[in-house]
Amino acid sequence: MLLFTPGPTPVPQNVRNSMSDETMHHRTPEFEAIFEKTRTHLFKLFKTDEVIMLASSGTGAMEAAVINLCHNTLLSINSGKFGERFGKIALAHGLNNVEIKNEWDTPATVEEVEAALTQNPKIDAIAIQISESAGGLRHSVEAIAAAAKKLNPEIMIIADGITAVGVEAIDVTNIDALLAGSQKALMLPPGLSLLGLSNAAIEKIGSGKGYYLNLASEIKKQKQNTTAYTAATTLIIGLLEVLETIEAQGGVDALYERTALRAEAVREALKALGLHIYPKNPARSMTTIDDANASEIRKLLKEVYAVNVAGGQDHLKGKIFRINQMGLIHDYEMSWVVNAVELALDTLGRRAYDGTANKIFNEITFKIGN
Ligand SMILES: *Cc1c(COP(=O)(O)O)cnc(C)c1O
Repeated sequence: MLLFTPGPTPVPQNVRNSMSDETMHHRTPEFEAIFEKTRTHLFKLFKTDEVIMLASSGTGAMEAAVINLCHNTLLSINSGKFGERFGKIALAHGLNNVEIKNEWDTPATVEEVEAALTQNPKIDAIAIQISESAGGLRHSVEAIAAAAKKLNPEIMIIADGITAVGVEAIDVTNIDALLAGSQKALMLPPGLSLLGLSNAAIEKIGSGKGYYLNLASEIKKQKQNTTAYTAATTLIIGLLEVLETIEAQGGVDALYERTALRAEAVREALKALGLHIYPKNPARSMTTIDDANASEIRKLLKEVYAVNVAGGQDHLKGKIFRINQMGLIHDYEMSWVVNAVELALDTLGRRAYDGTANKIFNEITFKIGN
């Protein structure tokens, strides 16, 4: 079965092998050397002043960022389930929450954010997804962050890059916390989350908030190549292997280029079948199609063509399907996925199969034809 959900993503064979040794003790020079090497690679990936690893799923990094960087009112951008989660986290911790809510295909605008900040001067942090995985849209985080900092240079920008870090280059000039998670673009099993932090963020964190998610404790320890509590040793060993593999395949910029090309090839192939791209500004992490036959297409993909793609949640259940584009994906697998969608449409009597999806995908991927 080909796993083509936008998280979890497939773990490459060499990465699985790297994690198969006996469990290593975390308070040892051997593990600290691995931790240090991993940090060095992470600084190149995040381009932030500090990078912290936590033993938690992605939501742990979201909660850590909110409680440590927001001390009064959080402005959360809700164009989907993950944006909604930021607001819930703020409320769970007794913080105030102002929300900009849009349909899941619609990114927030700079004007909406400026208006919210002007009306609510107590907002001291903004939380936003770079790629909102619920509908597969890309928010204009960089423009929103720049506009917000212009109105209030002290404001903290929390950017959830769980389906963006490792997918595309992110300008972190105005970002204070950049979040990532192991099971999405980083091609690992779930259980490790990461936070890139700016120096301004570190200053605001001060002595930190919370206990397990207190970022001050982690910053202090991780600068010394260890962790406040037991590290997710196996996942960090796997992460080092992932980052070394990316490096060996030309580095992060080459990965971003291949991902951008793959995203374009998939979108164009599916559009050529008459399918509709759901988000108004699609992210490169995934292609989301809204379709009346979404459930039937997913079922055929899984049962007949051995391809597992994701559906929708909440009000989009049965109305969309989402195809992953993150990671070191083989072109021959991606090509099979778009071909399988075309075969499914034929089975449903929607469109006679003529190989269009594969033709377009390969023309774009291998720059052939016109
Ligand atoms: C998956 C995801 C999360 C949540 O991560 P968990 O690992 O499920 O806790 C948060 N934000 C985005 C954009 C995601 O795709």
